[in-house]
Amino acid sequence: MHSFEDLKKAGLRDDELTGGTLTVKSPIDGAEIAKVHQTPASDMPAVIDRAQEAFAAWRKVPAPERGELVRLFGEELRKAKDELGAIVTLEAGKIVSEGLGEVQEMIDICDFAVGLSRQLYGLTIASERPGHRMAETWHPMGPVGVITAFNFPVAPWAWNAALALVCGDPVIWKPSEKTPLTAMACLKIFARAADRFGKAPEGLVQLAIGGPEIGEALVNAREVPVISATGSTRMGEIVGPKVAARFGRCILELGGNNAMIVAPSADLDMAIRAIVFSAVGTAGQRCTSLRRLIVHESIRAELVEKLAKAYASLPIGDPRDSATLVGPLIDEGAQAAMMTALEAAKAEGGTVHGGAVAEGVAGGAYVTPAIVDMPTQTDTVRAETFAPILYVLGYSELDEAIAIQNDVPQGLSSCIFTLNVREAETFLSAVGSDCGIANVNIGPSGAEIGGAFGGEKATGGGRESGSDAWKGYMRRQTSTVNYSAELPLAQGVKFDI
Ligand code: NAD
Repeated sequence: MHSFEDLKKAGLRDDELTGGTLTVKSPIDGAEIAKVHQTPASDMPAVIDRAQEAFAAWRKVPAPERGELVRLFGEELRKAKDELGAIVTLEAGKIVSEGLGEVQEMIDICDFAVGLSRQLYGLTIASERPGHRMAETWHPMGPVGVITAFNFPVAPWAWNAALALVCGDPVIWKPSEKTPLTAMACLKIFARAADRFGKAPEGLVQLAIGGPEIGEALVNAREVPVISATGSTRMGEIVGPKVAARFGRCILELGGNNAMIVAPSADLDMAIRAIVFSAVGTAGQRCTSLRRLIVHESIRAELVEKLAKAYASLPIGDPRDSATLVGPLIDEGAQAAMMTALEAAKAEGGTVHGGAVAEGVAGGAYVTPAIVDMPTQTDTVRAETFAPILYVLGYSELDEAIAIQNDVPQGLSSCIFTLNVREAETFLSAVGSDCGIANVNIGPSGAEIGGAFGGEKATGGGRESGSDAWKGYMRRQTSTVNYSAELPLAQGVKFDI
């Protein structure tokens, strides 16, 4: 069983865990586990100065050497996987395998970034002028401010940090005020890698602990050219315009309202397994959690009945227990928000299965996941409630299903279960899903790090992790070199003096 001892094992000292002003509670039982020190807002200019100094040195280190630091970080993460996973469970309430899975994602992105450190490729471009060469080069941007959410306390930071570091950028991390301990543990692990590396400048990776006011200090700082912010759409609506007003670059990873279309030809056994994992995994607190099921009317009643049966046998309780599949919500506020949404859905004509306060560990906010059969897609369905609520909607034609799927403010993840290639390809085409992630015969959650992760519309438009997301942490420079003895102008312009 994981406990307070895990914090010690991860290298956190007593004086770091007591005497501060930020109370950290475990969602497992609501008990206080630490009182950590917050970064005073008045310290933020010095934090940013240190990051700028680190940048001056780090950008000169060749990228493959920067990759060596990330390789060592990946090694240290492998050694510390159990300890860090246990803190994710303790602090965010994830079941053990999900806590470990988050650390695995960190390891995977380190591996990816190490390879990337030798592949920060630019282009050579055909020049229209004789004796000229055009090229595109990628340079480091500067300090990257990373603001993260409680529900993925470590992996999204690593997606950003591993790429930023190989791209030549220092990192200032402001974790969720609900999960500072996992962040503190990550910095300990990073410090071990930095010690082995031996030449990481001081201030290369820093932690700033606190609430929105500490995040805002990063958001408003011109000396932090990139802000990568993960969290609610409400937060993105504040952060995005502020970064834009100072011409900073913003990578926004905001809320989702993810759907699955289940077509008549779907393999229902597979679909049910995917639905249950993606709707109730992490107690419905993933940005990619399945929130809307759009089912063909011919199979709707059968699917809802089978799902209700599967939901009835879900082991809910202490996330440290290996048999548990549904752990607690983060706090009572999340439980209250779930109950409010269910009442609103009922008032809009929904029929609710489940969705009650459940027995778990005393003091924690445990619920039975809910299935809500809805007559239509209402405003309550269009809002992201960060809890295990699955709204079921019916459809007759695929076009209608796609229209329902896209008719929400958010655009993160989506999927279709079908064995019909026309339906699958239509869903993935320009007239299909409008989301950043679109899957066939796979649920909407649990993305691999190799692809770019993120979504459109109110999800913010940012991309992190794999593919060419690294370009978000670098500046592009186009250079033209004239090696001729003439000075021809582009577009044939004549300007002879
Ligand atoms: P939140 O918006 O309450 O907080 C997220 C982070 O933003 C925290 O660190 C918080 O302190 C900071 N913050 C809040 N207001 C700020 C401000 N004005 N200036 C600067 N920083 C500010 O979100 P949460 O409750 O921690 O997380 C849940 C939400 O995050 C859900 O909406 C979920 O969908 C979303 N999320 C999205 C992704 C993604 O990749 N798209 C991943 C995980 C979570």
